[in-house]
Amino acid sequence: MSFNRRHFLELAAGTTAALAAPAVIGRAKPRVVVIGGGAGGATAARYIAKDSKGAIDVTLIEPSRVYYTCFFSNLYLGGERTMQSLAHTYGKLASTHGINVVHDWAVGIDRDTRTITLASGYKMGYDRLILSPGIDFIAGAVEGWDTSKQNKMPHAYKGGSQTELLKAQLEAMPQGGTFAMVAPPNPYRCPPGPYERVSMVAHLLKQKNPTAKIIVADPKPKFSKEALFRDAWSRHHQGMVEWVGPDFGGKNVSVDADAMVLKIDGEAVKVDVCNVIPAMKAGRICEVAGITEGNWAPVSGHTMQSRVDDKIYVLGDATNQGDMPKSGYSANSQAKVAAMAVRAELTGSRMFPAKFSNTCWSMLGTTTVSKWVPPTRPLTRKSQKWTALSAKPVRAANCARPPSRKAWAGTTASPLTCSAKPRTQGLKA
Ligand SMILES: Cc1cc2nc3c(=O)[nH]c(=O)nc-3n(C[C@H](O)[C@H](O)[C@H](O)COP(=O)(O)OP(=O)(O)OC[C@H]3O[C@@H](n4cnc5c(N)ncnc54)[C@H](O)[C@@H]3O)c2cc1C
Repeated sequence: MSFNRRHFLELAAGTTAALAAPAVIGRAKPRVVVIGGGAGGATAARYIAKDSKGAIDVTLIEPSRVYYTCFFSNLYLGGERTMQSLAHTYGKLASTHGINVVHDWAVGIDRDTRTITLASGYKMGYDRLILSPGIDFIAGAVEGWDTSKQNKMPHAYKGGSQTELLKAQLEAMPQGGTFAMVAPPNPYRCPPGPYERVSMVAHLLKQKNPTAKIIVADPKPKFSKEALFRDAWSRHHQGMVEWVGPDFGGKNVSVDADAMVLKIDGEAVKVDVCNVIPAMKAGRICEVAGITEGNWAPVSGHTMQSRVDDKIYVLGDATNQGDMPKSGYSANSQAKVAAMAVRAELTGSRMFPAKFSNTCWSMLGTTTVSKWVPPTRPLTRKSQKWTALSAKPVRAANCARPPSRKAWAGTTASPLTCSAKPRTQGLKA
């Protein structure tokens, strides 16, 4: 990694001293600090550094040296991808774009002095701060579960070791055993994520453990792409998946991790693997910064600027971003909007109207579909609704994805331009 500790100490000392100067103009280079090197933060850092061509000093703070994506992690669980294929490092951001990559946690943000404190004790100043810390879990959301239980009952809703743990548990399940999932309430990261996971777990079990059962306890009466998932479960994984909605107790669950028991409406079910995905909120550093309202950080839909502090921009899952789904795709497009806005503020570069987009595909299985199913009706700005696709094999003249022997459920859309009502004009998954 590019970070040189001594250089950083000097930089930190220099930048903290310079904090007294309120305006950016007059200083050699404005400083942007990005907290969180995931889908949103790494993209924002890259675009600011690349497009400002050295005019802005960019620092990225991220504790992990390797970022394992959540996207495609379900395919890893299903045996369709390797863990290595989910791994991304930060070297190129430093070597190609000159970004200072600092592997540490941000633990404090003083908005008055525009100072960030890192876990190592270092302090650094900023002119603009971008936060993209993803999600954290709401304590007590599932009775009997907290993060101290995550090694027995993994969430696997942040990439990396949790995903590997869940996969190992699935592989070790006894023949005819039970996999249970406690699904999260809205809003949460990746609306179809739990249901793609169910499909991929079923896909794996069908091959290795065909008499196994899957129970999903869900507090929501309906879920993303429900018709497509239900259709796929009945056609590809018949009899394996039991979905328990709120009417039948899916909202009233508790777990006992030591006994490996899931209770649904008081009824105890002995399980072999239990994937608990609790209710979510913005990554904790947003609370520390004091920029949340309720569980999320409200932002302007034109710039991704915090509605609490105009020197701070917030991206990705941590935001209250209207109807946009909490997805990597959304985070990526939000990052580009924020990068443009930050650059315009700091260097006077041109600002174009914000454009956001999201496309979402979930893998269902790999055996029965012979051609990829293209969008039958692309999203129009007029309808602003996502088009759900059926999985019937069709001829695709302008197929954007090569035909394969894999079945997908999906939604797609053309980009939306943010205009009069950005907070309600988002995208639905
Ligand atoms: C199972 C699953 C499947 C998914 N599939 C898809 C998909 O197919 N398509 C899609 O578009 N999206 C998908 N997603 C959603 C996607 O992963 C997230 O929406 C996306 O990662 C959000 O980006 P982010 O930048 O907000 O957060 P993240 O990508 O989570 O990045 C946050 C980063 O911030 C860092 N961080 C947190 N706190 C601090 C701190 N205090 N100091 C420094 N760094 C900090 C973390 O280490 C992390 O690297 C999926 C999610 C899951 C769980």
